[in-house]
Parts: sequence; C-alpha cells; structure tokens
Amino acid sequence: MESKKRDIRALTREQLRDFFVSQGDKAFRGNQVYEWLWQKSAYSFDVMTNLSKATRDMLEENFVINHIQVDQMQRSADGTIKNAVRLHDDLVVESVLIPTKTRTTACVSSQVGCSLDCKFCATARLKRMRNLNPDEIYDQVVAIDNESRLYFDRPLSNIVFMGMGEPLMNYNNVLKAIEKITSPEGLGMSPKRITVSTSGVPKLIKKMADDAVKFKLAVSLHSAIDETRTSIMPFNATFTLADLREALVYWYQKTKSRITYEYVVWEGINDQRKDVDALVEFCRFAPSKVNLIEYNPIDDGDFQQASNIAIEMYVETLEKNGITVTVRRSRGKDIDAACGQLANKSES
Ligand code: SAH
Repeated sequence: MESKKRDIRALTREQLRDFFVSQGDKAFRGNQVYEWLWQKSAYSFDVMTNLSKATRDMLEENFVINHIQVDQMQRSADGTIKNAVRLHDDLVVESVLIPTKTRTTACVSSQVGCSLDCKFCATARLKRMRNLNPDEIYDQVVAIDNESRLYFDRPLSNIVFMGMGEPLMNYNNVLKAIEKITSPEGLGMSPKRITVSTSGVPKLIKKMADDAVKFKLAVSLHSAIDETRTSIMPFNATFTLADLREALVYWYQKTKSRITYEYVVWEGINDQRKDVDALVEFCRFAPSKVNLIEYNPIDDGDFQQASNIAIEMYVETLEKNGITVTVRRSRGKDIDAACGQLANKSES
C-alpha cells in the first residue's frame, strides 16, 4: 500500500485545494497544508495542529512528505559550510553556505551528478544522475537559511545555482523551486538575489527570456574560441558559441539583465593573447561582466591554474576595453566545497 501514497509536495496549491474539495472538505484546508509544507517546512502531518486528527490521518493515508536530511556538515577554516544532503531515495548531493562580511550565499545543486561533461569539473565524473525535484532544491535553501541564522545570526541573502548539475537541464523543477523561494508562501526572497549559472544551453536561455524570469544569469564561458571550448567542454560541439551568443543577445534584449561570464584561466589552454581578445569580442555582444574564478584542482593534473601574469593580462585587457572584471578567490577549498569540487567526497 505504501507505494500508492503520493508525494504531497509535488502538488501545487490549487491541486491541494482541489484535493480537499474532492474529499468533501473546504478548499482553504489546502492553503493551510500548503503553508505547513512550504513556509513552515513541516516534515510530518502530526505537527499540522490546525487540522483535526481525522484530517491528519486522512493525509497520512494518501500522501508522503519527502524531505532531505543533512547527513554531514563540514566547516571550513574560512567559515564556509558544506552540507552532504541525503535525498529520500538515499542519493546524496551537496550544497554550500558561503559567508562574507555582509552576505550569506547558498550554493545549491540542481541534479544528482550532471548531464554535462566538463573536463575540469569533479561533478562530471559522478555516474548516477537524476534531476532534483523542486522540493529537494527548496529544502537545500531552507537548510542553509537555518544554518545562516544559527551560525551567523542573519538570514540567507543570496542563492547561486552553482552546485552539482546543470540547472537548465532541469529547467521546470529549477523554475518551480525558485517560484517557491521567491513567493510569500515560501521564503519571500527577491529574485534579484538569485543567480542561475549555466554552461550555456542556447534554446533554454531563450526560453528563460521568454518566460520573463527575474533572476540573474551567469554563463560558464571559459573560452570564447570554439575549438578550445569544445576541448574542455565537449557539449560545445553541439551548443556552439555562435548559438550561445545569439541566445545571450536575445536574453539581454528581453530581460535587460546583464550577464556574468564565469571564466577560469588555465595554463596552456586559454592563457594567450588570442584567448583574451576573443573574450573581449564575445563580451561586446551583450552587456556583461567577467568573473575570473580561481581553478580548484580536482584529482588529476590535466589542468593547472595559469600564472598571475596571464591573469593580469586578462584583467588589464578587459578593463582597458571597459569590461568589468572581478577576480574571485575560492572559498572552502580545504573541505572540497569550492566550485567544481562537489563530488560527494565527504561520504567516504
Ligand atoms: N553547470 C552549471 C553550474 C555548476 S558549475 C555551470 O556550468 O555553470 C559552477 C561553476 O564552477 C561553473 O562556472 C563551472 O565552470 C565552475 N567550475 C567547475 N569546475 C571547476 C573547478 N575545478 N575549478 C573552478 N571552477 C570550476
């Protein structure tokens, strides 16, 4: 009989209201339950004290409440916290809390493993893969919000979809999660404080623009030369820079929201003058800024962070061309919590 129970958090508020009506009850009960599930993060029907015992039993008979469990929390010397998050089917993803003086940022996962195959990313090496449900994404954010209040005395301020997975390959669930995160019945966060980071799926970038999303877009560019980009991000053979560029122009036209390019400079891969020039050229297509990310080594030695001289060349050239550039230092490296290091290592 267990298997007949439905996941109650997969229902929209309207579906919950309809369910109560179908049971001969009032529609507003649906709102009450919805609030318990999303605003109060209730993990059992028993705690829903404004419902009668009979109603709670009836819900118990029909539904399950799937929820995540933070199995292990690791704290870095720099204050970064990494959560190993166990899902209802025992798979594990990771999410990270990154504190600065003024902000707390949650870096959340959108998939178990990843659909893409970037050569420099540890997550790409994980085999098991499934999309996370909206509630599984939402719960990671709630867990980090709680940790932020507990350890830093303030609520979570920002969210980046830069954990495991390619958010646009789980488009519907990521958007549903963001809807809950931003809605007053959820966390009521401003979408301007949320950034979705993608390797660049042109069709879906256009779809986001058509869907008039209000969050920010970051694109992991790493090279503006097709041949180089394909060698490190093989899906670029299908989603070429020309298509990406067209989608980004479309995005900006529709949303008027500036794009952030994430970019790592590696020795012998993209550390030459021609690489910088191609990036400057690419940045002209749509208003954008560049985030130079420090490389976080994953086990083998195929990739090495470029020299400071090469990075300086990038910074100077971009600035000379009027492009905003920031050099981002990594956080949480000692606990494998930095960009591209999420590979469920804390498990073993
Ligand atoms: N799939 C999405 C989000 C996850 S990756 C995306 O590609 O944007 C988050 C960021 O970490 C991306 O910019 C990615 O290129 C970068 N990254 C991956 N591996 C890295 C590594 N080893 N060192 C530094 N950054 C890395």
